[in-house]
Amino acid sequence: MNTLKSRLTAQAENTMRARRFAALDAAAKRKNQLRNKIPTYVELEMHIASLSAKRLKATDPATLEQLTNAVNTAVRDIENLLVKYNVPVNYAMPRFECNRCSDMGVLGAERCDCFRKLVNNSVAQEINRNSSIELKSFNTFTLNKYRDERKRSIMAGNLRVCREFADNFHLPCDGGLFLRGRTGLGKTHLSLAIANEVINQNYVVIYDSAINIIDAVLQSVYGSHDNNADNYKTADLLIIDDLGREYSNPQYSEKAMFEVINYRLNSGLPCIVNTNLRPKELYERYGEGVVSRLYLYTRLTFEGDDVRMQEGERQDED
Ligand SMILES: [Zn+2]
Repeated sequence: MNTLKSRLTAQAENTMRARRFAALDAAAKRKNQLRNKIPTYVELEMHIASLSAKRLKATDPATLEQLTNAVNTAVRDIENLLVKYNVPVNYAMPRFECNRCSDMGVLGAERCDCFRKLVNNSVAQEINRNSSIELKSFNTFTLNKYRDERKRSIMAGNLRVCREFADNFHLPCDGGLFLRGRTGLGKTHLSLAIANEVINQNYVVIYDSAINIIDAVLQSVYGSHDNNADNYKTADLLIIDDLGREYSNPQYSEKAMFEVINYRLNSGLPCIVNTNLRPKELYERYGEGVVSRLYLYTRLTFEGDDVRMQEGERQDED
């Protein structure tokens, strides 16, 4: 499967190769400048190369030591030469972006942090490109705007659950979050704060609207193959925003949503689902199959100060 993760990893590998090549190429060019500028530079270089070759072949300890000393002396001679010409001693050395891995992206069998960072940045970019939304932080989620003490304590509880979900994110995971409440009460903010934290833990997170997800899945089922459908199914964390806002035929929405949610549940991959639909509307639109699966997630209700909506919430407390 050409998933987002494998695509972005391959992309990052290419970026690393290009970085390393650029650093080595620039170093080679600087070395050529030195060769042109300083007549004895090439001689010393060749001298070091020949000593090093001899040292590689040497087996006798006394000879080895002698050759090592000779190489060190020649290196110092080159450094002195550069100082004489007012050139920094490391002028011709490669300048890697990451000195830990010399832009190879690996340290032994492990990926270097610079590589992980690169992949994460592309993931974050991908999310922002798809959703045109900035990643958020938990720290900017304020509870002060909830004047009513009961609502404030509900929201404090929601915030705590979301933080814990982000802090303890792991795979496989048979959980998930189901956030319900009207628009503008912080569901998106908290979802994006979780996305931010989980991306920082080096997981692939996709945030997208239900309408885009349903379209991609329907295309992959009924029409041309759309790789996005695979990405939605296999991302480490999928955040489905605004379930119920899509306009497609309910029968198709139900089929597509079931496909994604069921696949992810069976694969131990969590979802965060946001909706402003009431439970009754959810059943009508998506049917038992989808709703019973959504109800396996931790359910959080978001409440606000809108009187009309407060009445609505009371009717459908579940
Ligand atoms: Zn590195």
